[in-house]
Amino acid sequence: MKYLVVIGVIAVVLWLMFGRRPRIRAERTKANAQPSLEGMVQCAHCGVHLPRSEALRADGHSYCSAAHRDAGPRADA
Ligand SMILES: [Zn+2]
Repeated sequence: MKYLVVIGVIAVVLWLMFGRRPRIRAERTKANAQPSLEGMVQCAHCGVHLPRSEALRADGHSYCSAAHRDAGPRADA
């Protein structure tokens, strides 16, 4: 009976060590890949580049700040 408990503990430890590792690694890989997958956009007003997630979108243009969004696209752009 005692051996069953020991075998159970070993099985759990092995599962924790090997069974879960690929999933953790996959999540880490996905997290590391996200910044490079995230596109950069250009502010339609001043031309600065910024990550898409930080950009403000309006009328099909991207802006770096609310002030530039309100100012609208640069005339010669
Ligand atoms: Zn701007």
